[in-house]
Amino acid sequence: MRVLKTIGELRDYRGGLKGSVGLVPTMGFLHEGHLSLVRRSIIECDHTVVSIFVNPTQFGPAEDFNNYPRDTERDLGLLESAGANAVFLPGVEEMYAPGADTLVLPGRIADRLEGAVRPGHFKGVATVVLKLFNLAQPHRAYFGQKDAQQVAVIRKMVADLNVPVEVVVMPTVREADGLAMSSRNSYLTTEERQAATVLYRSLRLAEDLIAAGERDPVIVRQRMIDLINTEPLASIDYVSVADASSLEELTFVAKPALISLAVRIGRTRLIDNIILS
Ligand code: AMP
Repeated sequence: MRVLKTIGELRDYRGGLKGSVGLVPTMGFLHEGHLSLVRRSIIECDHTVVSIFVNPTQFGPAEDFNNYPRDTERDLGLLESAGANAVFLPGVEEMYAPGADTLVLPGRIADRLEGAVRPGHFKGVATVVLKLFNLAQPHRAYFGQKDAQQVAVIRKMVADLNVPVEVVVMPTVREADGLAMSSRNSYLTTEERQAATVLYRSLRLAEDLIAAGERDPVIVRQRMIDLINTEPLASIDYVSVADASSLEELTFVAKPALISLAVRIGRTRLIDNIILS
């Protein structure tokens, strides 16, 4: 497995490849969710490049950029065992040269949900992902459904800017008790880890209500909120029942619907979602 630290190294490596290339963009501190994307890329592509870059432009000033968990040695071992061909591991100055100030500005799809709570977040995501696409020139790029709005923003960017990349989306990988795997789960204390199951429990409640015939999103949301509020360590950022492609809140539950939420467990902010299709 090649470890590439500079843009020049990545460009040279890419220039020498024949056949299809898959890119898996990550911020590292890898878990089974990330590795599911890597494995899919290895199955579908001749070469798999994984990027590990904690991207400062997608973090707000009061967010956890400095504390974001990092363990490069462990990540490299996991990727080597999984069979990745190359890892792109740039520093911040490598990705953002002094004076670089051109950004990708996503449209209205980035204004709701995560974008409403984290202004500028998707501008940072879209900018770094387009840069990674331009550098690695993948045929396919792999993303997780866990970050549903990120998928929607990137799909829209790829369509609107005619980016020649196929976006592949993989299902959310969960712990045995339903908690979606996330690098940020490492912040949770034992008590908080237990409380964090309330996210998935509330998604399952919504799924059950809708399966039983409930079509009023106000009622679905309220039942989810009531359940989450039984958990003293949880505080809700948002609970949403939205159209899965426009992300607009529904007035009547029709499929495909994206049921998503962001909840703080203690000081850790977690997101999760399910799609009813
Ligand atoms: P991150 O390192 O958090 O930026 O995530 C890198 C990629 O892995 C993104 O496309 C995420 O959506 C995806 N991902 C993160 N957690 C999971 C999970 N539990 N299941 C599937 N994909 C995931």
